[in-house]
Amino acid sequence: MMPLRMSIHEINIGAIHEFPVQRKGMFHMRVSQLLNPTLREVPAEAEVISHQLMVRAGLIRKSASGLYTYLPLGLRVLRKIETIVREEMDAKGGQELLMPIMQPAELWKESGRWDVYGDELFRLKDRHNREFCLGPTHEEIITDLIRGEVRSYKQLPLLLYQIQNKYRDERRPRFGLMRGREFIMKDLYSFDRDEAGLAESYQKMYDAYCRIFARCGLAYRPVEADAGAIGGTGGTHEFMVLADSGENAVVYCPECSYAANVEKAECRPQVIEVASPEGQRKLVFTPNVRTIDELSGFLAVPKTSLVKSLLYQGDEKLFLVLIRGDRELNEIKLNNALGGFVSLELASPEDVKKILGCEPGSVGPVEVPNELMVVADEEVPLMKKAVCGANKANHHFVDAVPSIEFRIDQVLDLRMMEQGEACLKCGAPLKEARGIEVGQVFKLGTKYSKALGATFLDPDGEEKACVMGCYGVGVSRSIAAAIEQNHDDYGIIWPMPIAPYQCIIVPVSTKDSLVVETADKLYLEFQRLGVEVVLDDRDERAGVKFKDADLVGYPLRVTIGSKTLANGQVELRERKTGETHLVTVEEVAGQVKTIIEKEISF
Ligand SMILES: [Zn+2]
Repeated sequence: MMPLRMSIHEINIGAIHEFPVQRKGMFHMRVSQLLNPTLREVPAEAEVISHQLMVRAGLIRKSASGLYTYLPLGLRVLRKIETIVREEMDAKGGQELLMPIMQPAELWKESGRWDVYGDELFRLKDRHNREFCLGPTHEEIITDLIRGEVRSYKQLPLLLYQIQNKYRDERRPRFGLMRGREFIMKDLYSFDRDEAGLAESYQKMYDAYCRIFARCGLAYRPVEADAGAIGGTGGTHEFMVLADSGENAVVYCPECSYAANVEKAECRPQVIEVASPEGQRKLVFTPNVRTIDELSGFLAVPKTSLVKSLLYQGDEKLFLVLIRGDRELNEIKLNNALGGFVSLELASPEDVKKILGCEPGSVGPVEVPNELMVVADEEVPLMKKAVCGANKANHHFVDAVPSIEFRIDQVLDLRMMEQGEACLKCGAPLKEARGIEVGQVFKLGTKYSKALGATFLDPDGEEKACVMGCYGVGVSRSIAAAIEQNHDDYGIIWPMPIAPYQCIIVPVSTKDSLVVETADKLYLEFQRLGVEVVLDDRDERAGVKFKDADLVGYPLRVTIGSKTLANGQVELRERKTGETHLVTVEEVAGQVKTIIEKEISF
């Protein structure tokens, strides 16, 4: 055995020799040494493809429900995304810091969120019975920091960020990294003197996010989104990785830059001309008709001539919502328009009976009690004649005139945007896609700085609240989203910039010494060129090695077999296209290097 000191010495020399100085970390690995347990079977509890493939490809293992260990290859992908995020944050003047995961309840009580955040907040107590939570986000902590450290406008603006674990107590975590109880996020908070400064910070982050997802090699779209629960004054955009399995519906314009979450997408009311017969409102008997479809069928009228009337309960308040029969109500728009209820749901049949005297299927907007507020989608008053419920069991009105006979207190945009509608900016027909949210940029305004007293003195000596923004990237979620977007029946197809390794060398035989020697030689040559490479040196059948390589998703595979080697050639295969071509042993490293450089240049 060689003396230990000598072998360490040799490894050091080798390392300096083999890697370009600017690159750190492990850039090559033998598969025989790699902790990469792959599975042929789909794990029973994994419902979404990214979860299935991450487990099967040996990237993660479950530790407990919604909690995962990143195995070496999974962690490499995570680190690569983190590096891209960090570089783009730093390029915009972001400063990295690290805040505690565990946060005192007092700060959350100051901001008012302790009581409204609900069951998703992981709460705990220390031995002195003091309350804490595991941070799902860090507005309170960072605003507390700034109120202590910032005195003057001269210290602003500030862009502060961290990359850290976040926690959310999901009721039933089941989508792997897509929706875990512990996840990794980059969160940046901007502090500015005024709205103009915030607009600038916001734009910087918006631009940085575009670069991040493009650099990760992902097809994405920034979309106008709903402000949701964080609460804020200004705009917000979500960054969606496009994938058919995405949980969010997005409408986008193929002609201009307009794109929005359907939850948010503003609609233009559509007028439908109907050849409506002259005639007064009539009460008609509609036995056993409960749904819009049944009503449309029973009366033989199109759904566009019907009005849906829905009794809603927002917190303690009841109100009637009207929308055209063919449209879908957008509850998020409804809630935003009415000021934001903590809970918003359809009223119970018992309440409907109590207030309007009938079953939900017969509710209508004619002669409703005065104390009941009525809100209508913009299209309802534009209908010349309508069919609606009569607030009498098994009865509806036909030929009602909404603009005259309905008491409508507020007219609002309440409906869900539909595919094919005209773009509000340019008029082109909108298209629909599905997306996975991986980032959000958000103008917070002074909500937290006022609540916690993060103020500064402006040049006139006046005390003002910092104007804030917050900007998140779901780092671990981006891994899952990348897989949802890039996979086939055989496994993952990593975009080159975030692949765990860029290339795998597969000697098809471990018996043929020329094959083995060539594989070793290329393995070293790839390392010298700075290619991140693994060598599948296992004594396994070629089919097993190919299956694993496809499953893990290495972008490039170099296959070395006796037959082609007799002509001095090896096979180079691209995972993405499945294309293979023969390349000479001398040229393959150069070609691999060229492909990699092309795919990660930005
Ligand atoms: Zn457009």
